[in-house]
Amino acid sequence: MSDSRLISSKHNEEDLNEGSLRPLTMADYVGQDRIRENLEVFIAAARERGESLDHVLLSGPPGLGKTTLAAIMANEMGQPIRKTSGPAIERPGDLAAILTNLEPGEILFIDEIHRLNRSIEEIMYPAMEDYTIDIVIGKGPAARTLQIDLPPFTLIGATTRPGLLSSPLRDRFGISCRLDFYSQADLTAIIMRAASILGIAITPEGAAEIARCSRGTPRVANRLLKRVRDYALVRAQGKIDQATASQALQMLEIDEHGLDTVDRMILDAIIIKFGGGPVGLETLSAAVSEEGDTITDVYEPYLLKLGFIHKTPRGRVATELAYRVMGYPLQKGFKDSSLFEDADNK
Ligand code: ADP
Repeated sequence: MSDSRLISSKHNEEDLNEGSLRPLTMADYVGQDRIRENLEVFIAAARERGESLDHVLLSGPPGLGKTTLAAIMANEMGQPIRKTSGPAIERPGDLAAILTNLEPGEILFIDEIHRLNRSIEEIMYPAMEDYTIDIVIGKGPAARTLQIDLPPFTLIGATTRPGLLSSPLRDRFGISCRLDFYSQADLTAIIMRAASILGIAITPEGAAEIARCSRGTPRVANRLLKRVRDYALVRAQGKIDQATASQALQMLEIDEHGLDTVDRMILDAIIIKFGGGPVGLETLSAAVSEEGDTITDVYEPYLLKLGFIHKTPRGRVATELAYRVMGYPLQKGFKDSSLFEDADNK
């Protein structure tokens, strides 16, 4: 349901043509400076040694540029990239077929790698460590194990939930990068770049206005830019300035924090229905009619980042800031758990 919504950072139909906006080189990849600098060093070193790049794990909420970064790494290594995803690899044989068909040095990109099932994951361990796989031929007492050598390759895994990866798999990645939400300045640069590719007339102030509502996420920024362009075309001779952007975003019901109706429903439910929390994921998911996974992957990371909710062992709690932003008076006896946790840590 939420995949078709404007703010969701998950892929939707419209994003299928996001290819033209994907940066192809590190130089065009905006933000995530520390990760970019590290990767540039690792890539240069691997090229210098004439070896394949170490396996890389990219984690972070959807739409932050994991797939883009994987393609850039392949590009900079001068290697082809083969893309698949955890749920698409259903049987051990599927993975064996992919691995045995890799070219030397090729990059294998597995999106949603936390969704690989365990029996398939186990094939990955020797493949990553020693470039071999063990294939079992036959059944019962006649079964034999055949070891097959693989060409050296680089696995790039992307995940929105690094915590769900088993530790043997996680430990086999030599490089691990956690992508964070983008700053407003970086998002403004991403919007200006996308606007110039798409031939949209926009002022830096207009771009900054859209950036402010983009939930720190490039995919959302690009999507909002396209919607604001439509509005500008009809109401402002196609030119996006601050006033036009602000009116368009108001019409799309996105507030200045980038919150949309579902975010507000979540905060509303925690504060009003559950007395500020704590509330468990299942209960919350039923209250706002959104899938638990979507709440965890898309909504929560941003609400946590803004400091509107807090996660405790017993569930989610609304912070004092959330009460203020939603315009609710603080309840009597309200405890902002963040204040108490800070106090405990001192
Ligand atoms: P993820 O794989 O993390 O879900 P993607 O790599 O598919 O995210 O990124 C979504 C879109 O956002 C891309 O098509 C690209 O246009 C844009 N994007 C992501 N990261 C950046 C960046 N650092 N600079 C410019 N554009 C970006």
